[in-house]
Amino acid sequence: MADENKMNADVVIIGAGMAGAHLARSLREKDIDVLILEAGDRRPRGDFLKVFYENPVKGPQAPYPSIPSAPHPEDNKYADFYVQDKDTLKENLFIGAYLRIFGGTTWHWTGFADRLRPADFRMKSLYGVAEDWPIDYELLEPFYEIAEKRWGVAGDPNHVWGAPRKTPYQMPPIPETYLDKQVTKALTKMGLHSAIFSHARNSVIYDNRPVCCGNNTCVPICPIGAKYDASVDAQKAEEEGARVEVNALVTFMEVDKNQKITRVKVQKPDGSTFWVGGKAFALCGHAIENPRLLLNSKQETASKGVANSSDSVGRYLLTQANQDTTGFTPDPVFPYRGPQQTSGLVERRDGEFRSKMAAIGTSFMNNGWSGNSDAINMAHDLIDQGVVGAELSKQINEKVSRHLRLNSSAEVLPDRNNRLELSDQMDTAGIPKPKITFKMDDYTKQGLKVGLDINLEVFKNMGATEVKHNDPYLSNAIIGGTTRMGADIKTSVVNADLVAHDHDNLYIIGSSSHVTTPVNAPSLTIAALAIRAAGHMEKKLAEMP
Ligand SMILES: Cc1cc2nc3c(=O)[nH]c(=O)nc-3n(C[C@H](O)[C@H](O)[C@H](O)COP(=O)(O)OP(=O)(O)OC[C@H]3O[C@@H](n4cnc5c(N)ncnc54)[C@H](O)[C@@H]3O)c2cc1C
Ligand code: SF4
Repeated sequence: MADENKMNADVVIIGAGMAGAHLARSLREKDIDVLILEAGDRRPRGDFLKVFYENPVKGPQAPYPSIPSAPHPEDNKYADFYVQDKDTLKENLFIGAYLRIFGGTTWHWTGFADRLRPADFRMKSLYGVAEDWPIDYELLEPFYEIAEKRWGVAGDPNHVWGAPRKTPYQMPPIPETYLDKQVTKALTKMGLHSAIFSHARNSVIYDNRPVCCGNNTCVPICPIGAKYDASVDAQKAEEEGARVEVNALVTFMEVDKNQKITRVKVQKPDGSTFWVGGKAFALCGHAIENPRLLLNSKQETASKGVANSSDSVGRYLLTQANQDTTGFTPDPVFPYRGPQQTSGLVERRDGEFRSKMAAIGTSFMNNGWSGNSDAINMAHDLIDQGVVGAELSKQINEKVSRHLRLNSSAEVLPDRNNRLELSDQMDTAGIPKPKITFKMDDYTKQGLKVGLDINLEVFKNMGATEVKHNDPYLSNAIIGGTTRMGADIKTSVVNADLVAHDHDNLYIIGSSSHVTTPVNAPSLTIAALAIRAAGHMEKKLAEMP
């Protein structure tokens, strides 16, 4: 006889990140019984800050050590986490970053609060590339509004990044920096424009969280919580009655002969396991862990893995590609003031050109050449040259204050052959590692090439010296597409309501269900779709015995 379930709930949510938190809150508003199973631990901000300050590596994962019971990728060690063919070109090395802690990956996100553009949902109809989403902007708009109200969005009503609004932003914009203004002067000479980004960070006190004080460590951590992250709503969901079990790694989903998900297996850090039953299940583990769990759940009733009758789970893997241009400006532009990205290039984010090449989003980076490591890197170089003491400090200040970087990111097209599979190597929790196959296509490279030409012209106009650029590389911020939504069950995993084609009580929520990764950032859409899914679930639960 099968083991007894240790816990049961009407809705079992796997993952307390952006998708899980908003789904849980919306379900609790409808008084629905919710249990969240979260693989990671829950720790106070101060603990993460201490780790960050003491860590000599200052990348996006710096404050968040991976734990053996629920590992996530670590800075400079992506190749240990993702298994890729040894002959993979550098430009195709996958470095998707995410966190397994209560609150999820937005602990270290930048905080761009973008709605997608109406055109982003209709790439095939408008530009003849990629696929249309099975939903459109109008359908999502009311849910965008709810998500924005929960986050609190600071934005410029005069520039809404291509996404028309019926309601105002919650807060006035985060001001542009001195650096932004200098770049804008150069763009103006070229007939181009800049605008202020919409941010999930407070420009005034909002939701009892403080005003951004320009600390400039947004990625990897906001020390004061001025930047929104999903732990805010995960916490609220719990206060509103959702049960939460942390350190609960879901390793397997059980499917009965009627293709219903009946229960999931949970593994605790000490290796013990138990089962959790439910009427409906929502997989909200992000775009690597969602397909990984589904593929790891092969069984007699789901021989290719859960939700995988079309062999589409793990396929159509999406990310973005990035390229940086750096140089010394003649006069200081004073990076390291304000949030890391406050303004960007208006042009090239959408237009007819997307039929031939990728849209790009270019940001003026307020965090120097290398995020949080500029001064450290420069100190090493100067010390190697024999510069020490007061002169060292003087030279660091003089040079770092003239560091300018423009970063362009480009969309990639969905491709069935870009995919995640299970490797035969195991991670520290005993789960097969993700094996990645990815190829950056010419569409993406061509978009970046145009971006690079613009950036080089900006540097020239500013009189910059020692101007350099790197080769295109894959983004660590954006991951999607591995359980994508669609009407055609042969090429998608979930329908427009995020219900798995194969299992009518399984929802898969997050950017794994997104069809494309345009330059407007994905997470507001994740939250909006999670909120929408709650309404669908309410109806479905009402129909269940
Ligand atoms: C450096 C960086 C910058 C970014 N900047 C932006 C930005 O500016 N704007 C934007 O919109 N997006 C940004 N993103 C992307 C954004 O963070 C993600 O889109 C978003 O967090 C995904 O939400 P999610 O709920 O799907 O997943 P997550 O937030 O990752 O949450 C998933 C949760 O599921 C849990 N989980 C995973 N597997 C299991 C399992 N097997 N059992 C139980 N629990 C599990 C995890 O522990 C985690 O808590 C950025 C990402 C990075 C890395
Ligand atoms: S600039 Fe500082 S205070 Fe503002 S969001 Fe970033 S880390 Fe937080």
